[in-house]
Amino acid sequence: MTSQPHIGIVGAGLAGRTLAWRLLRAGCRVTLFDARPRDDLATASQTAAAMLSPLAELAVSDEVVFALGQRSMQLWPRWIDELETAGAGRVYFRREGTLVVAHAPDQASLEHFTRLLQHKLPAASRAQIYTLDAAGVARHEPALAGRFGEGLFLDGEGQLANDQLLASLARAIDALGGQWYEGVAVERVEAHRVVCKDQSHAVDVAVDARGVGSHAQWPAGNPLRGVRGEVLRVECAGVSLQRPVRLMHPRYQLYVAPRPDHQFVVGATELESEDTGPVTVRSMLELGSALHSLHPGFGEARVLRMSAALRPALDDHRPVVEARSGVWHINGLYRHGYLCAPALVDDLARHILQPGHVPDAERAEAHEVHS
Ligand SMILES: Cc1cc2nc3c(=O)[nH]c(=O)nc-3n(C[C@H](O)[C@H](O)[C@H](O)COP(=O)(O)OP(=O)(O)OC[C@H]3O[C@@H](n4cnc5c(N)ncnc54)[C@H](O)[C@@H]3O)c2cc1C
Repeated sequence: MTSQPHIGIVGAGLAGRTLAWRLLRAGCRVTLFDARPRDDLATASQTAAAMLSPLAELAVSDEVVFALGQRSMQLWPRWIDELETAGAGRVYFRREGTLVVAHAPDQASLEHFTRLLQHKLPAASRAQIYTLDAAGVARHEPALAGRFGEGLFLDGEGQLANDQLLASLARAIDALGGQWYEGVAVERVEAHRVVCKDQSHAVDVAVDARGVGSHAQWPAGNPLRGVRGEVLRVECAGVSLQRPVRLMHPRYQLYVAPRPDHQFVVGATELESEDTGPVTVRSMLELGSALHSLHPGFGEARVLRMSAALRPALDDHRPVVEARSGVWHINGLYRHGYLCAPALVDDLARHILQPGHVPDAERAEAHEVHS
């Protein structure tokens, strides 16, 4: 490999874009390929609520995701600061915790959720979750005063504005001289080669970060699938929340994540389906009525957008960074992409940058960073 290795990254979603930026900063030459324009809203990365919830997500994940999330919570503020210092634009990032509430008939769901987290959390992190009485709920979220008899507070959780982050990363990549093929569908990613319909590009290291787009490159024994998720984005000047609020429900969990300019992301459905069609009426009603039940002021919210996308998931729901046949894969970020990406990308960048890194088949098969 030359002193300035050329890295070809296929997929400019959260994983590919973040990796490209880190490698460019480290002095690599980087070429990004994506089938869509950089601002296309149909990807998982653009659709996500981008909550950073290592504690709440432990209910549906495991210690691997938790540890990646804890590490990433340290990296995000540093990385966002680096982007802002480099003049790539502001990124809304908050770390004010998460409030979990339930209406009286659904109290058992909240109690079960609390016990589950207490059971799964490492002892050192248990103090980060604590119950609130009605006054505590009102103190944390004045808009919800009198609406909930109790709540659960998850200290240290956060969120960011993914649209701002993705735009900021794009500006940083441009400023560092990254080459970006937009609207170019890649047919195959091979060792040292990215193969498009009309052209083949030689690279020193090839990385496949196509999310569900790399479906065909996953072995039958460890298939990659898409899990459909739908969100609403609303604008509501009449209700103010300081932090993401999760509403427990026996059939689905709703979250409302506040964003700048009185906007909120309301999500998310989780459907075992690879349908990429628009949001259904059923999902719109479920998300909308749960939002309204959180606070009636949301009845006057304006719906700005309804989006659906596929979360790339492996059967064990863990993200993976691994090399197969000379190609690095970063995938399976499922519902934890924003939560885990910095730690995953940091590890992958280190592997690629280590002196003498040779991504040939035999050497690469030996590496499996996360699974
Ligand atoms: C509704 C919803 C809510 C979510 N909420 C959260 C949350 O609150 N917190 C959290 O941590 N995570 C959340 N996630 C998960 C998170 O969004 C994903 O884990 C993450 O965005 C996956 O990023 P990615 O880069 O791997 O994939 P993607 O975002 O899918 O990016 C893959 C890229 O590859 C490109 N591509 C595909 N095929 C090709 C091809 N053949 N050639 C070239 N390019 C190709 C695509 O155009 C795309 O740009 C949510 C996801 C959804 C859908």
